Amino acid sequence: MESKRVISTKKSIALIAHDHKKNDLIAWVKENKAALANHILFATGTTGKLIESEIKQPVNRMLSGPLGGDQEIGALIATGKIDLMIFFSDPMEMQPHDSDVRALVRLGTAWNIPMALNRASADFLVSSPYMAGDYEIEIPDYSSYLNRKIKD
Ligand code: PGA
Repeated sequence: MESKRVISTKKSIALIAHDHKKNDLIAWVKENKAALANHILFATGTTGKLIESEIKQPVNRMLSGPLGGDQEIGALIATGKIDLMIFFSDPMEMQPHDSDVRALVRLGTAWNIPMALNRASADFLVSSPYMAGDYEIEIPDYSSYLNRKIKD
């Protein structure tokens, strides 16, 4: 059976940018500083350090992405502690931690959290009426997977 959880007014937002997209994300964060001030921020290590120094808002910083930070954010998504993710990913450069990047986006999909993978989507997300209020998120039903028969 599908279950739900409420994403409240004060949202936990994960922010991540690949190296060649960091300037773009910082510019976006500065533009949206007032909106972000109402929420709790999480980020991979380097991205978080840059955001903190630019907008003086505390950021819950993970390890640097390629050193485990993407997986830390993924674990927070899987345990319902991240409500939405803004991830400026670089489509033009192979990342050393490509498997982690794919795992992170996969978990965002699996747990049905709003995700923006580029600036235009981030603009749509941050201007959504759901940002200012509660939103009931549907958690997909994984019970048949969890209760599957394992043959020996
Ligand atoms: P970083 O990690 O913020 O520590 O640079 C970003 C990433 O996942 O590539």
